[in-house]
Amino acid sequence: MSFSTQDTIVAIATPPGRGGIGVVRLSGPVALTVAQTLIRHRQPLQPRHATLSKVRPSHFAPRPGVARDDAPDCSSPDTLPSGGGDAIDQVVATFFPGPRSYTGEDVVELSAHGSPVVLGAIVSAAIDAGARLAEPGEFTLRAYLNGRIDLMQAEAVSDLIEAVTPLQARAAFDQLDGTLTRTIGAIDATLFDLIARLEASVDFPEEGYHFVEPGALAQAIDGLLERTAALLDNARRGRLIREGLTIAIVGEPNVGKSSLFNALAGSSRAIVTDVPGTTRDLVTEVVEIEGLQVTLVDTAGLRDTADPVEIEGVSRAHQAMAVADLVLLVEDRSRPRPERRHDDKVLYVANKNDLAAAWHDDRAVAVSATSGDGLEVLRRRIAVAFDVDLMRDRPAMTNVRHLALVGRAHEALARARAAALAQGVSMPEEFVLADLTDARAALEEISGRRAPEDLLEHIFSRFCIGK
Ligand code: GDP
Repeated sequence: MSFSTQDTIVAIATPPGRGGIGVVRLSGPVALTVAQTLIRHRQPLQPRHATLSKVRPSHFAPRPGVARDDAPDCSSPDTLPSGGGDAIDQVVATFFPGPRSYTGEDVVELSAHGSPVVLGAIVSAAIDAGARLAEPGEFTLRAYLNGRIDLMQAEAVSDLIEAVTPLQARAAFDQLDGTLTRTIGAIDATLFDLIARLEASVDFPEEGYHFVEPGALAQAIDGLLERTAALLDNARRGRLIREGLTIAIVGEPNVGKSSLFNALAGSSRAIVTDVPGTTRDLVTEVVEIEGLQVTLVDTAGLRDTADPVEIEGVSRAHQAMAVADLVLLVEDRSRPRPERRHDDKVLYVANKNDLAAAWHDDRAVAVSATSGDGLEVLRRRIAVAFDVDLMRDRPAMTNVRHLALVGRAHEALARARAAALAQGVSMPEEFVLADLTDARAALEEISGRRAPEDLLEHIFSRFCIGK
């Protein structure tokens, strides 16, 4: 991965395949010059104006190896055209001068027809004119290196592109918009001020007074602890948005588990995605329920049995229950019911509501898997179990990396607080200072102000080319 911003990069920014429009993006010191040599337009491109122009034919020398196919989910353009001939396409060229562009550098976007042949040829011609093919995520990496966005926002770009539910997109956009950046920045600013005052009090002890009283110091740290705790609290829900959640459907044989699975899967919007870690032996389906990405798992019946095949199925059902975020325990409402204990993770479903009821329980959601009756209510109850409404109202910390670092900051603050209140220590400020500095380092690693290159490599290599 190149951390230099000296050269000019080019890539197809739209997804592989054919479409109405395809965009080639250029960024770097000579982006404008390269673009001007590609198009017929004689006047210089005006900043932020769309200019319609034909693409010059003379530059269409095909060049093998232009397309890279080692990036995740990005396939290469098809074959490139042979050289010569007249103009190949008409494009709309837009020039975004640095530093107020996506990358912070001069950027030119060429919107052509969405043909892999045309787009590949434009990229090829741009390379002949002095650009270099961009690496995965390199446009966003440059935006980060040039200070346009911080690391949290760069990660949000990737999350936004990968989002499969509207709620995931909303959480990612919030983060891109800087909500989390500001929240963490505010904590960091308070921390910075506290550290500065403490340092003054350590550096000038002869002044005769402490810049920070121990009681006030502990109180100030308390305030910071509250803020990191709130972030951590909110992160559990944030991760459900980002990673989706798993719901296991369990119950005794013949209560209607498979029927409910099919009814929920069939009546919810199916999501096409790769879900890692789902076993082939359990039937699963990824659907959207009230904006949440849900992996539904149908399990074998739960009952005591001697049949080895069934024993295996039951043990898998227990495993599925253990890892599930929520368990739908299906019961047959038309038959007598055993005693049930309350469990936070379990939502009781009284199925076969269309038949005469043998029992009634307010906690259970009455449905009929065969008629579809009650499924809407069930979906709402699932959403309530995960506070989906709260998620809509509040920005959430969705990233595991951020979560770990806020956790580290929180622990360092807790140590600082204990040190501030320690009795009989001659220079408590120095201990407090060390812990506060630790807390700050963790926060700065989130925003990327102190990000090692291998971390950047890890984050940006997950992007596609052109992002
Ligand atoms: P599982 O063994 O728990 O997966 O149960 P199934 O989904 O295979 O259903 C067992 C039987 O109950 C089948 O004959 C279904 O048609 C029937 N069944 C499932 N749900 C309902 C329902 O809501 N109402 C009625 N009347 N029958 C149902």
